[in-house]
Amino acid sequence: MTEQNTAGTSADTLIRLSAAELAGKLAAGEVTAVEVTQAYLDRIAAVDGLVNAYLHVNAEEALAVAAEVDAIRAAGGAEAEALHVLAGVPIAVKDLIVTVGQPTTAGSKILEGWHSPYDATVVERLRAAKMPILGKTNLDEFAMGSSTEHSAYGPTRNPWDLDRIPGGSGGGSAAAVAAFEAPLALGTDTGGSIRQPGAVTGTVGVKPTYGSVSRYGAIAMASSLDQIGPVTRTVLDSALLHQVIGGHDPRDSTSLPDPLADLVAAAKTGNVEGLRIGIIKELHGEGYQAGVEYRFNDALELLKEAGAEIVEVSCPNFQYALGAYYLIMPSEASSNLAKFDGVRYGLRVLPEDGPMTIERVMGATRAAGFGDEVKRRIILGTYALSAGYYDAYYGSAQKVRTLVQRDFDAAFEQADVLISPTAPTTAFPLGEKLDDPLAMYLNDVATIPANLAGVPGLSLPGGLADEDGLPVGIQLLAPAREDARLYRVGAVLESLLEAKWGGPLLAQAPELAAAVTLETQEAK
Ligand code: GLN
Repeated sequence: MTEQNTAGTSADTLIRLSAAELAGKLAAGEVTAVEVTQAYLDRIAAVDGLVNAYLHVNAEEALAVAAEVDAIRAAGGAEAEALHVLAGVPIAVKDLIVTVGQPTTAGSKILEGWHSPYDATVVERLRAAKMPILGKTNLDEFAMGSSTEHSAYGPTRNPWDLDRIPGGSGGGSAAAVAAFEAPLALGTDTGGSIRQPGAVTGTVGVKPTYGSVSRYGAIAMASSLDQIGPVTRTVLDSALLHQVIGGHDPRDSTSLPDPLADLVAAAKTGNVEGLRIGIIKELHGEGYQAGVEYRFNDALELLKEAGAEIVEVSCPNFQYALGAYYLIMPSEASSNLAKFDGVRYGLRVLPEDGPMTIERVMGATRAAGFGDEVKRRIILGTYALSAGYYDAYYGSAQKVRTLVQRDFDAAFEQADVLISPTAPTTAFPLGEKLDDPLAMYLNDVATIPANLAGVPGLSLPGGLADEDGLPVGIQLLAPAREDARLYRVGAVLESLLEAKWGGPLLAQAPELAAAVTLETQEAK
């Protein structure tokens, strides 16, 4: 039997509502935050054995926060008035972001059982908004990967097809949202780890302007590229969450001083008339799956009909972006990961024999604690930074970075927003690219330029590819600090597409239906 709450909404309906819809019901007193949180915890218990989106579930604390919100609402008065719109709406957090009271592993054995003594700024802001934190989500170890298969805790599976990857590195956050195990999640995006998982799971993911969301408490992968951002089921939900986590933070030296324009208002603008949308010549066509290209063209057609002006722009240096990224990112990562030395955090492994020197303890700890992909990148980065090769590799990559930024500057002279597919293909089968790092790296060919230039990017579902019935992502890019434009165009495109589909794309996911059956069977 399905339990009904006071307003008659079943738990199954509740978990399918957007965060904005949930917020509305909470404010109207139609459901309680405890009911909502419990519905999600039940869903996690029912399906996460299949999906493996969560590394840690935080039921007790989440319910306590929900109960606090309900008590404040019930009491009414100024405190109830002052509640944040998302108060009582639960959220999942990528396990690269540190949290007090829950473990943080970064998907690595080297941090197994480690607890942070402080909260990330974004987590403090979630707590201030009284959003129950459901738990921590799976990821490729230290956010290195495009499939979540590099997690030390087993892969996450794509809710659309459990034999396929959910993207990476933030596959856990995207799969949790796609499988209705959370209405909202946080991700981190260094080269595409929010947007590419969004694309292959049919969810919305945003990489904000570099510096607009604090990185304090996000375990650093490549500090000049990393950015925390929203993972949601709708564009409006991303805007709402982005507004909670964004804004200046004195503890992050790269934090921008001024707030962005109103993102929620932008998502509600409702028109794209007269807006110039630029197709990036280098980011579609050859090398992109036919069904991806087809959906991309479909989206362009809809935007044109809605009154946008479609132009073509060329960014010739984007062809070097992937190469530059795979020098800059490992270089910064090799330095950032030096602190995992068996002395300060988590795991410590003693050498089996021979002298017990500090170097040998570090060596044994890092050999046992890091997985292959992390070791590959540390070696790559250390090499690129070494005295004899610094100029040839790291130096050249930084020059390419400047050229990519200039390409964006030129493109934004001709267009207000740029558009491309988010990823060249739909979700591939688990294991397919695991032994081929270069093939894995190519997934990020369309997302990486934004990180190199610091500009914001949003991925939203563009429909299903004809050949495999799997979700395709559409990426929108805007100039730095103009994140509002992404929400404006994204929300319009989303509503045009959903009108065509007759509802949200996720309602069509077949494996989710199978998972629901499993849940109902278990409930019997
Ligand atoms: N997939 C990319 C990589 O492996 C991006 C990772 C990320 O954005 N954290 O580096």
